[in-house]
Amino acid sequence: MAETLERTRAEAPDTVAELDAVIIGAGFSGMHMLKSLRDQLGLKARVYEAGETVGGTWYWNRYPGARCDSDAYIYCFTWDKQLLQEWEWSERYPEQPEILRYLEHVAERHDLKRDMQFNTRVTGAAFDEAAKLWTVRTDTGQEIRTRFLVTAVGSLSTTNLPQFKGLETFGGKWFHTSSFPRGGVDFTGKRVAVVGTGATAVQAIAEISQQAKQLTVFQRTANYCVPARNGKVDPELTAARKADYDGVIKRTRESFFGQEHYFIPKSALDATPEEREREFDRMWDCGGFAFWLGNYQDMFFSQEANNLCADYIKRKIRRTVKDPTVAEKLIPKGYPYGTKRQPLDTNYYETFNKENVLLVDASTDGPIEEITEAGIRAGGKEYGFDIIVFATGFDALTGPLKALNLQGRGGRTLDEEWAEGPRTYLGVAVAGFPNLFTITGPQSPSVLSNMPVSIEQHVEWITDCVDHMRKNGKALIEATPGAQDRWVAHVNEVVSATLMPKANSWYMSANIPGKPRAFLPYLGPEGVGGYRKTCDDVAAKGYEGFDLT
Ligand code: NAP
Repeated sequence: MAETLERTRAEAPDTVAELDAVIIGAGFSGMHMLKSLRDQLGLKARVYEAGETVGGTWYWNRYPGARCDSDAYIYCFTWDKQLLQEWEWSERYPEQPEILRYLEHVAERHDLKRDMQFNTRVTGAAFDEAAKLWTVRTDTGQEIRTRFLVTAVGSLSTTNLPQFKGLETFGGKWFHTSSFPRGGVDFTGKRVAVVGTGATAVQAIAEISQQAKQLTVFQRTANYCVPARNGKVDPELTAARKADYDGVIKRTRESFFGQEHYFIPKSALDATPEEREREFDRMWDCGGFAFWLGNYQDMFFSQEANNLCADYIKRKIRRTVKDPTVAEKLIPKGYPYGTKRQPLDTNYYETFNKENVLLVDASTDGPIEEITEAGIRAGGKEYGFDIIVFATGFDALTGPLKALNLQGRGGRTLDEEWAEGPRTYLGVAVAGFPNLFTITGPQSPSVLSNMPVSIEQHVEWITDCVDHMRKNGKALIEATPGAQDRWVAHVNEVVSATLMPKANSWYMSANIPGKPRAFLPYLGPEGVGGYRKTCDDVAAKGYEGFDLT
């Protein structure tokens, strides 16, 4: 690894380079952005990536059980029509290594790596007002001058490792799920702790319990989990989808969440109990996000309607978990269903029926107090471990952008601009930061959608915008403060009509101590379809809300 790093750096281009576009990150978004700017527009573009290959999220998140939560047939690039026909996914939700293989294949097929520099972290970028260029710095000591700067850093890529007292004293090994060692961790015969019960932990816990001698799960907030129902996809269904890929693409692009799930156009309160139960059973049996994103249309708005959905899941938990005390600990309390990201489970609740699995719940057993040399002390009791796995999530959306140390006009930083929460225009631009584009940035649908759909929408929009600028002899594009103010107000107004603010979720910035409470993505009234129209309208009106100079 060290040798590869040295070699890659030695082969790195000149210390000072001039480019049309710098793209930060080589995940889904960076790969597509490079393809578009380089092969469609002919720009001199280059990707800088901290990892040693492509993949982004799918390069870093290698914990046991890591797999996509969207059906694979829509969790892929749609711009390579031939590949859509050729590629065969092995199951409904492929595992991390398979998705990484897919991305490697795309990179090779489109010769993307030629313009990517790996093992290189961007450490800062400053806008030079006189030259109208960005100067980008890397940890390899390079300085790159570029007209356009595109962040493709993902929404969930800055690790949240809570500052537990005593972590440095722990005598065993510990890992965060977002940076598991290559080759995995052998849990065989080990006493293992998992801290956290979010979507990551829900995937990892069932897997780790199969290997570990003893698994102890530290839960702070119980989650509403629904079954993923992973498995082989019926070949006839796959063939039908392939035959109608244009239709699939159109439908996902126009949909609410970038998925083929649609709300039931009715209030849950207007359905009879029998009808509701039938619908709930249907969604539950369908698996995946159906229960979350295809439920009654007032589920996200009416607490009464939401309670009916929540009660159904609570009944399922009580029926599945044999020990009633454990079941009660696993019952979510204090926030509406669906206002935290829906974890998809494969035998998650069943795992707590196993002899070797223990649940330590912060409310009933006491919160984590400290990490000790031997393990974890919680609620006054010490639990001994060989391995601790932190599945404690991310500093979502704003974290990865702030970490880039960007300086816009007048040397202003995002820390300063976003001291009270993110402020963007359309989630793709920031006033005072000319020629900066943020793919799936804060206040865009991003994490509330099937990511590839939102990524493609942003990449296409940015590509059209750059093309427009070149054709019209414009050097700079910059969101106006007024347009940004209106967008921020709109994002907050829309979400305030929903139940989302009632949860202490990472959507609400609540998982990071001291992070200003603000809703991070955009939950537009018409979802990703409506958002796409808004962005297209802005472009059609000559980039309304932007100054083009
Ligand atoms: P997460 O949803 O933020 O969950 C973190 C967990 O750690 C929560 O249970 C949280 O408790 C707990 N935690 C955090 N700080 C803690 C502390 N100081 N003490 C005790 N517990 C603490 O993170 P995640 O599970 O990694 O998931 C993040 C997101 O990644 C997901 O929501 C999803 O969008 C994405 N994801 C996607 C996939 C996929 O598509 N395949 C898979 C996994 C994850 P609280 O709930 O009380 O905060």
